[in-house]
Amino acid sequence: MIWETRFGSITLFAIEDGWFHVQPTEWFPESDPSIWRTHADYLTTDGRLRLSMGCFLLAGPDHWVLVDSGRGGPPLATNESGTGQLPAALRTLSVDPADVRTVIHTHLHIDHFGGNLTLDRQLVFPNAQFYVHRRELDYWTTGPQRATSGVSEQLAPIIDAGRLQLVDRDTEVVSGITMVETQGHTPGHMSVAAMSEGQRTFITGDVTHHPLQAEYPEWNSVLDVKPSTAAATRHRVFDSLTSDTLLAAGHYPRPGLGHVTEDDTRRHFTPIAAAARTQT
Ligand SMILES: [Zn+2]
Repeated sequence: MIWETRFGSITLFAIEDGWFHVQPTEWFPESDPSIWRTHADYLTTDGRLRLSMGCFLLAGPDHWVLVDSGRGGPPLATNESGTGQLPAALRTLSVDPADVRTVIHTHLHIDHFGGNLTLDRQLVFPNAQFYVHRRELDYWTTGPQRATSGVSEQLAPIIDAGRLQLVDRDTEVVSGITMVETQGHTPGHMSVAAMSEGQRTFITGDVTHHPLQAEYPEWNSVLDVKPSTAAATRHRVFDSLTSDTLLAAGHYPRPGLGHVTEDDTRRHFTPIAAAARTQT
């Protein structure tokens, strides 16, 4: 599925490449089961969380920018799990992958960059530059993570083609679209801040996996590599969001677009009603 909204002169498409299910208190070990019971609307009938694997396509007047490329792999779409839906979504939008010149990776977990390669290891986006934090690449391709991460193998065709662009600080990669350091989930994790005609969108990456973390930013996910840093970053990001900033979060319930607002007692995430398109 695809959802779309607009800020300034940019159309933002939220594309679901896939999805998976987790037990909420296993995914968020610090979360209290009683809190989930009071938010049963987030849970499936058997008490699990459905986590989306979302990508965001920014369509500006003269550019396409893709933030994360999903899990990729053989297309699969069942109630239980899905993957590899991004190429069909692009076809539905009449976007030729060859026209996508900029692909930003928030980090190098496979559900955020696995969609870069076809099944026969060709580049899905043959003309793109791929942006990653230098520390992120180093973490997954050297030291103890190297053997099991698979990052070196997955990135090899991109590196061999000379398409990997490493950044080591906040970096504006396209006019108005800036990669912002938000480490903790992974050592070189980055979010994306996009500004158009005075309107701001913040694409979180995995700073947050669920809307309840707006109220409970101390909840780390089980995959947060440096939990204390991840929690500090999450606090900082939520504190920095103005109520008119559009938040875009890939693992949130679809479309993963909304605003964070605060009342006297708590901060909460309110989804927007984005227009949905059925994939063809
Ligand atoms: Zn993720």
